[in-house]
Amino acid sequence: MLGRLARWMRLLGYDTEYFREDHPDKLIVKAKAEARVILTRNSKLMELPGVVYIKSEIIHEQLRKVMEIFPPEGEPLSRCSLCNTPIQRIEKEKVKGRVPEYVYKTQNEFYYCPECDKIYWQGTHIDLMKEFLKRVG
Ligand SMILES: [Zn+2]
Repeated sequence: MLGRLARWMRLLGYDTEYFREDHPDKLIVKAKAEARVILTRNSKLMELPGVVYIKSEIIHEQLRKVMEIFPPEGEPLSRCSLCNTPIQRIEKEKVKGRVPEYVYKTQNEFYYCPECDKIYWQGTHIDLMKEFLKRVG
């Protein structure tokens, strides 16, 4: 399962869809139609064209491998980590009551996902990037 890797890749700006592996045939068709590379831990798929086999189970090793093969090209922290939708700026007044009180008081820039409505702000981004840098180093 590479769900965690998918979330991290989105945070780094990669356009990343996550697909559960119970139907590899559908996955291959979808990847072809959308011109996507498949990242998988399923060794049965590793011989297929357009497939990158991820052997490691450790998130920072997985990310390092991805970044070696595909240098990041998207803007970091521009996509929703949950659903891959590009996030948009939202006025501060509109997030009142939807983020913790201290966050509202201390932050001025907010973003939201138009698809799943998750709210992002600088603090979450900075904490996540710090965690990422600690792991990938
Ligand atoms: Zn979302």
